[in-house]
Amino acid sequence: MSGADTMGNGSGDAGGALAAALFAPMGSDGIYGRTRLYEDVLQHLTDFVTRERDPRAEVLRFPPVMSRAQLEKSGYLKSFPNLLGCVCSLHGTEREILTAALQHESGGDWTRSLGASDLVLSPAACYPSYPIVAARGPLPSGGVILDVAADCFRQEPSRSLDRLRSFRMREYVRIGSAEDILEFREHWMARAKQLAAELALPCELDVASDPFFGRVGQVMAVSQRQNSLKFELLIPFSPGAKPTACMSFNYHQDHFGAIWDLRRMDGEVAHTGCVAFGMDRLAVALFSIHGVNLARWPHSVRHALGF
Ligand code: 5GP
Ligand code: ZN
Repeated sequence: MSGADTMGNGSGDAGGALAAALFAPMGSDGIYGRTRLYEDVLQHLTDFVTRERDPRAEVLRFPPVMSRAQLEKSGYLKSFPNLLGCVCSLHGTEREILTAALQHESGGDWTRSLGASDLVLSPAACYPSYPIVAARGPLPSGGVILDVAADCFRQEPSRSLDRLRSFRMREYVRIGSAEDILEFREHWMARAKQLAAELALPCELDVASDPFFGRVGQVMAVSQRQNSLKFELLIPFSPGAKPTACMSFNYHQDHFGAIWDLRRMDGEVAHTGCVAFGMDRLAVALFSIHGVNLARWPHSVRHALGF
């Protein structure tokens, strides 16, 4: 995990020590087992985020996979085809499956026999929310707020501890009118800065764009920035380091509303937005900045997290 060497942390430990305290290597870049220390902090961080939940929010927890058809319909392949992981399996008769599997024993490539299943690995927690709400019919007055979470996957191998391929995302999702979404996003951008201050995490908030694929994607990214559709809370994991996006504040306009025919009570197409917490990034930020010895974290941070 040489990427850790570049991250350092505020307590003067070597980056390798940080990685060793938090993660166990699993043989693939960006995929790690997590230590008790790390999970304990992640759990407290989860509770910290839950305390911010709007009492009206409906809670849904999603598995790490979702319907391939739903993600295709959401337009994901137009924007991020390079990041998507698809669940594949061996299909066919017992004999066909056995022949394929035995390829491996004889030094062959069994993966050539794989076929795509109906599932993909969820690239963000909020995607399944929109068809679920749309299936219920017109939105109730005031719209809908959801609290969702999922283990997410993006195919971006990296050795840096702030870029995992499998990471946990928590989101508050807002569905309603354009005004509802913008108000929700304003509230969260202000609140996020306060929360970062409670955790003694240095941060800045900036307009951002998603990593859209290819040349057409670059045009989409420019338009997203021009329309201020995405903001990020950026945290430098060590003094002077390039800041890492640990939260995002997204306004999708009527993108998901039109795709899923999400309607407000008055029949208008609903707008949607979400605020996403990169739980693993926030946890790694805490350890990078405050060190791996919890007892030495600032008292105020321990208090905020309920330690
Ligand atoms: P977004 O959908 O805005 O790209 O992602 C939402 C949040 O998920 C990001 O702000 C970030 O905190 C987290 N996230 C995105 N990509 C990664 C990644 O590669 N590794 C980790 N640990 N978190 C990520
Ligand atoms: Zn989202």
